[in-house]
Amino acid sequence: MSRVCIIAEHQNGKLKKSTLNAITFGKDAAQKLGAELCVFLIGHNISGVAGELNKYGASKIILADDAGLEHYTAEQWANVAAVAAGKYDAVLVAMASGTTGKDMMPRVAVKLNAGMGSDIVGFDGEFFTRGMWAGNALATIEITTPVKVVTIQATAFGAAEPVGGESVSENMEVSLTNAKTRFVEMRETVSERPDPTEASVVITGGRGVNGAENFKIIERLADIFGGAVGATRAAVDAGWVPNDLQIGQTGKMVAPDLYVAAGLSGSIQHQAGMKNSKVIVAINKDEEAPIFEIADFGIVADLFKVIPEMSELLEKEKS
Ligand SMILES: Cc1cc2nc3c(=O)[nH]c(=O)nc-3n(C[C@H](O)[C@H](O)[C@H](O)COP(=O)(O)OP(=O)(O)OC[C@H]3O[C@@H](n4cnc5c(N)ncnc54)[C@H](O)[C@@H]3O)c2cc1C
Repeated sequence: MSRVCIIAEHQNGKLKKSTLNAITFGKDAAQKLGAELCVFLIGHNISGVAGELNKYGASKIILADDAGLEHYTAEQWANVAAVAAGKYDAVLVAMASGTTGKDMMPRVAVKLNAGMGSDIVGFDGEFFTRGMWAGNALATIEITTPVKVVTIQATAFGAAEPVGGESVSENMEVSLTNAKTRFVEMRETVSERPDPTEASVVITGGRGVNGAENFKIIERLADIFGGAVGATRAAVDAGWVPNDLQIGQTGKMVAPDLYVAAGLSGSIQHQAGMKNSKVIVAINKDEEAPIFEIADFGIVADLFKVIPEMSELLEKEKS
């Protein structure tokens, strides 16, 4: 039977949320292609992640578990994914378009001699749709090779919900090749707050926040919700916050339940990373700012007045 195969992403023993979006894409694609859905899980000591994964309706979870795969390297993971795709008759191999997906999927495509589409936002069973020019144009593409490889824009697909029953897990024998690259060290930014891509609330500050110290008011509001802090490229380039908080075309793509955009104009490059958020609240003192065109709620005001007031009210409400 032909299969649509999703490559799962995980970190520190936890499944990444974007995998659930990729599963939604995979389920729909499998139905359109009359194929089975399976998920590849690559790493070491991954049975906990497999346990999390097996309730989303995939027919199979294929585990490639080996000490040599404990730390991600594009070379080894792409090799393993390509071998698995061949073994399990994949006609379509997909992964969320994050840092890892962008790094390894082109290699998977080369190994499978497959055509590749990136940042896919739709599939009708024959043609794929992808955003161009920061999502301002949509291109329809056809991948003509028998096996197709894609990265998908996670925010374009809802997160898969658990369904009744459990997937069958199967261990795949792994034989690692002599790699030309090796893992040396991982330097993680440690933060008490969730990553913007994982959070249900993101509070983002732009150039209007006007300084690193002032970001404390953004952080305070984020902490009330247990949410994440985001930033525009202008705020990152000014050195006020680390670049892993950048939202947008060249930053992270997010689609939280609530996105608060404070002191940012709403450039097309910024919108590309957040316009799929469920509820957008914009705070800007310029009523002409483009962010108001996509906001569900707009507050034309000084953020230094509104955000502390908001935080105070919410803190009172909570206590
Ligand atoms: C190839 C490319 C890729 C890019 N990728 C990204 C990306 O991934 N993410 C991204 O964000 N940008 C990206 N950019 C940059 C983008 O074009 C904009 O320059 C940037 O988003 C502007 O950031 P900003 O909205 O914070 O600043 P501005 O556009 O300067 O807006 C600041 C806003 O703050 C408001 N303001 C000021 N003071 C206050 C106050 N006290 N209270 C309320 N409002 C106030 C102002 O009215 C103004 O609207 C990219 C650009 C290029 C060319």
